[in-house]
Amino acid sequence: MKQKYNIVVLGAGESGVGAAILAKVKGFSVFVSDKGKIEKKYRHVLRKYEIDFEEGKHTEEHILSASEVVKSPGIPETVPLITLLRSKSIPVISEIEFAARYTKAKIIGITGSNGKTTTTLLIYHILKKAGLKVGLAGNVGKSFARQVAFRKFDVYVLELSSFQLDGCFGFKVDIAILLNITPDHLDRYNYNFQNYVDSKFRILQNQTSDDYFIFWADDPVIRKEMKKRKIKAQPVPIGDITQRTGAYETEEKIVFDNGKNKFYMTLEQLALQGKHNKTNSMAAGVAAHLMEIRNETIKQSLSDFQNISHRLEYVASIHGISFINDSKATNVNSTWYALEYVDKPTVWIVGGVDKGNDYESLKPLVKEKVKAIVCLGLDNANIHKAFEGIVNTIIDTESAKEAVDTSYYLADKGDIVLLSPACASFDLFENFEDRGDQFKKAVNEL
Ligand code: ADP
Repeated sequence: MKQKYNIVVLGAGESGVGAAILAKVKGFSVFVSDKGKIEKKYRHVLRKYEIDFEEGKHTEEHILSASEVVKSPGIPETVPLITLLRSKSIPVISEIEFAARYTKAKIIGITGSNGKTTTTLLIYHILKKAGLKVGLAGNVGKSFARQVAFRKFDVYVLELSSFQLDGCFGFKVDIAILLNITPDHLDRYNYNFQNYVDSKFRILQNQTSDDYFIFWADDPVIRKEMKKRKIKAQPVPIGDITQRTGAYETEEKIVFDNGKNKFYMTLEQLALQGKHNKTNSMAAGVAAHLMEIRNETIKQSLSDFQNISHRLEYVASIHGISFINDSKATNVNSTWYALEYVDKPTVWIVGGVDKGNDYESLKPLVKEKVKAIVCLGLDNANIHKAFEGIVNTIIDTESAKEAVDTSYYLADKGDIVLLSPACASFDLFENFEDRGDQFKKAVNEL
């Protein structure tokens, strides 16, 4: 008799393996298929839970037997197997959609083009400090599904990428946060920005009038899109002084107002500095305020949060030259904030896999602050094209060490060397962490 599976999981990374475990625990027959090689630790876990799996191939007979397929966010919609599944009307969902069916915990979901991880970790930090039983998942940390299988949390803080949201249909968040929308991942959205915007707004689907929608009110894309849509959740703006709810800035102070009570913080009290981090701190504070966490706890947590690596991370000062690692800046907007943040003449290390970048918005800041550009990527043609004529020195390099040595040579005492690539890292590095770590290592070897 042909083997038939209830649930097939495509992709055996953190989220896929977590989904497979949850499916197994819930009594489904499960099959995991990965076209590439499965990491040893995940192979081991699959064996431990006696889950059938294959690697290096996709056996259609098994996959098409599924009642439902859980797809890892890294697999694009356009691959033939997904098209085939769609043509057979087999539902394809994300790990988030699958796991959410099995938990009653309150869910805070964070999305946006930039600042998701920072804001997610900030909220997690506040809620933990407040003594709640809280899980951290989504794009960060351990798989959501795996935690749902074994843990009992009162609340989950989930970082949600657009790819994860694309596979969500019945999933609902109690508190949704949309930080910003700027072009990113357009290669996965048919080079159509609206498709990407629609994907981000999926975070609102299924919300009711009992739920909240926290959004950055200064973002023109969000504002325009909100006018087009009927939003059921209670909107809570951040940054909009005219509304006087949520969080806004007035006379050097941030006001947090949840409609029941208010508290204030000065900008200096925030642990995370920089314009962009003000938005992230406001969003996190507002979410906690809506959860009725004590004002003092929120204030304390927003002041003592430890910054995470690879986001405008100060590395070292060598002969008066400061080195900053912003390897996580994988799109133009995040790099805009880094260039806005630096306050000294800067040697800017940029480049990698360009996801359809338009560098226009960076030009004024580059003109004002950047004395030399060091390209770190295999194909730097777009960077040369955009900045020749604006910056006199543009040099190509192909390793973190070469980029750091070159920047050190070009910089003078009092300057900044900033790694903020505006591109993905996969041409020369395993991922953005690897890029940032190699940068830091090279700096420390100077
Ligand atoms: P994400 O998880 O959305 O990629 P991160 O918190 O990891 O976001 O930050 C990614 C990059 O974006 C870093 O370079 C960081 O300095 C920058 N950044 C963080 N928050 C914001 C924001 N609100 N707006 C723009 N850029 C941001």
